[in-house]
Amino acid sequence: MVICPYCQKEVTGEFDTCPHCGVTMIYFHHCHRCNQEIATTGILKFCPLCDADFSDQMN
Ligand SMILES: [Zn+2]
Ligand SMILES: [Zn+2]
Repeated sequence: MVICPYCQKEVTGEFDTCPHCGVTMIYFHHCHRCNQEIATTGILKFCPLCDADFSDQMN
């Protein structure tokens, strides 16, 4: 289960497009702070849910 960063609703992992708001999600981030999988159309620098800094997780 991932959280759409645009509408912040839960999306099952089999979707690459959010069924709620229609955004296409390509990149997946795991937030260590709020422990959510977040799918986005681009690289995130901050968690849209809790504002955790993702820049130190890049590899
Ligand atoms: Zn959405
Ligand atoms: Zn977070």
